[in-house]
Amino acid sequence: MKVEDILLDLVAIPSVSQIANEPVIGYAEKHLAGWKIVRYPYRDAAGVEKINILATTKPGTAELAFVCHTDTVPYNQEWSEAVRPVIRGGKLYGRGSCDVKGFLACVLSATAKVDVARLAKPLAIVLTADEEIGCVGAKFLARKRVLRARHMIIGEPTGLRPVCAGKGYALAEIVVRGKEAHSAFPARGRSAIFDAARVVTALERVAKKLAARKNRAFDPPFTTLNVGMIQGGTAKNIVAGECRITVEWRPVPGQAGDWAAELIREALAGLRVDAVLDVKRLDPAFAPSETRDLATLVESLTGRSAATVSFGTEAAHLSGLASEAIVFGPGDMTVAHKSGEFVPVKELHECVGYLGELIERLCA
Ligand SMILES: [Zn+2]
Repeated sequence: MKVEDILLDLVAIPSVSQIANEPVIGYAEKHLAGWKIVRYPYRDAAGVEKINILATTKPGTAELAFVCHTDTVPYNQEWSEAVRPVIRGGKLYGRGSCDVKGFLACVLSATAKVDVARLAKPLAIVLTADEEIGCVGAKFLARKRVLRARHMIIGEPTGLRPVCAGKGYALAEIVVRGKEAHSAFPARGRSAIFDAARVVTALERVAKKLAARKNRAFDPPFTTLNVGMIQGGTAKNIVAGECRITVEWRPVPGQAGDWAAELIREALAGLRVDAVLDVKRLDPAFAPSETRDLATLVESLTGRSAATVSFGTEAAHLSGLASEAIVFGPGDMTVAHKSGEFVPVKELHECVGYLGELIERLCA
C-alpha cells in the first residue's frame, strides 16, 4: 500500500485527544502482521479508554524503536478537509497529516516492506495516546519502562532533519486577590487588576533574567516566558476582586525546569501583593543523548544536519528508555495545529526510504 493511501486512511479516522484512539491503534495493528503486540490501556481523566501499544519483532533490547502518538489537536468544524483528506498540488491536507499521522504512515509503509522475521536484531514500534494534552500516554509508558532500546526515533514534523534536543514546557497560573468595592469608593477595596499589572511587570523582568542565560544550541537561545492570558474583574464599576494570569515557559536543557518558578516566586514575594503561583505542568526538556551515532547516521542519509526544536515532544519522557533518541519526521511544525495542515507527499516517500534504510543498517 502506498504511504499516501495509508495516510489518507489514518487522517479519515478522527482521533482528537478527547475521544478513544482505539480506531487508529486497530488500523495500525492490522498493518503489523507477524509482530508481537502488547496493549497498554488506561483511562483518561474523563474515563475514556486510551490505548498505547508496543509492537516488537523479537524479545530483547530493541536495536531501533519508532515512537509515534496517535492523537491530534481539535479542528475547526468549518474546515471540511480535516477528516476528509485530499491530495492537491503534491500536498496531503487534513488534521494530523503533518502532526503526526504522516510519520505513522511512513512507519507502517516502511515496516511493511521488510520481512520482519528475517531481521537479526529486534525492531520496535511504540504508539501512544494523549500526546497533545500533556504526553499522558508517553509518561504512562515511561513509568512502566515498557521497553529498552538502543536507538529511538520519535516522530514529529522536523522537515526530515534529525533533532537531538528540545526545550521543556511549563504552565502556571498566578491568582491575584484584591477586595471588591464600588468603583466610586476605590479606597474601600483593593484592585486585583492594579496588583496584577505589577505582577505582569515583574514577570517581564523574570523573562529578561531567563533570556540572559544563553544556550546557543537553541533559537531563541534561552528559556522563553510568555504571559498568554489575563482575566480579571467582573464589571466596569466594580473594583476588581480577582485577576488570573496564565504564564508558560519553555526551559532549555541543563536548566532546572522550576528555576523560572523560583524566580517568579521571589519576584512575587518582593511585591507585597496577594498573588499565588500555581504550577500546573512542568515537563522536562529533551536533553541531548550522550552518543550521537543515530543522529550522525540520519544526517548522512538525509544530508541534513542535526538541529534542536523549541516545541515539547515525547522525547523528554521516553528518551530515558533508549541509549540515543532523536526526533524526526516529515512535514513542518509551523503548519500543524491550524486549519489547512498538510504534509508534502514527496517528504512522505523520502521518509519511507530513510526508515527502510535505517531498519536495514541497524537491524538486518
Ligand atoms: Zn505531535
